[in-house]
Amino acid sequence: MPVKVRNMVKMLVIFSLWQGKKHGYELMNEVEKKTGKRPSASQIYPFLEKLMDNNLIEVEEEGGRGKKVYRLTEKGIEFVEKKLDIFSDIIAATIEKDLSVCAHCGCKVYEGGIKKVIDEEELKFCCEHCAESYIS
Ligand SMILES: [Zn+2]
Repeated sequence: MPVKVRNMVKMLVIFSLWQGKKHGYELMNEVEKKTGKRPSASQIYPFLEKLMDNNLIEVEEEGGRGKKVYRLTEKGIEFVEKKLDIFSDIIAATIEKDLSVCAHCGCKVYEGGIKKVIDEEELKFCCEHCAESYIS
């Protein structure tokens, strides 16, 4: 099963990992800092499992106390970097409040566009075509 990065929480998780290895709680802090909302463990850990199953991240035990540190594998770095252009636009758009970016193609959506709720997250698309390609 390929990994789908369908919402802001997941994007921020892999983006944070791209910036350096992180503990699970550090990932949650990063997401909270960027979105203003504390993610639940169920938004983070199953996704980390999925990334692991796909060899995109690996886990290190730190300090002999069973503390887990997650970091991207080489395959994971490639995976994230392919998405980075779209990511940075989406992240920039969340800072510029009135601007949205199509979650599929990354183009800017100033007004209108199409909203879909996916995984409890509201995403915006420039057109129906992008929304459908993204979901399927
Ligand atoms: Zn689009």
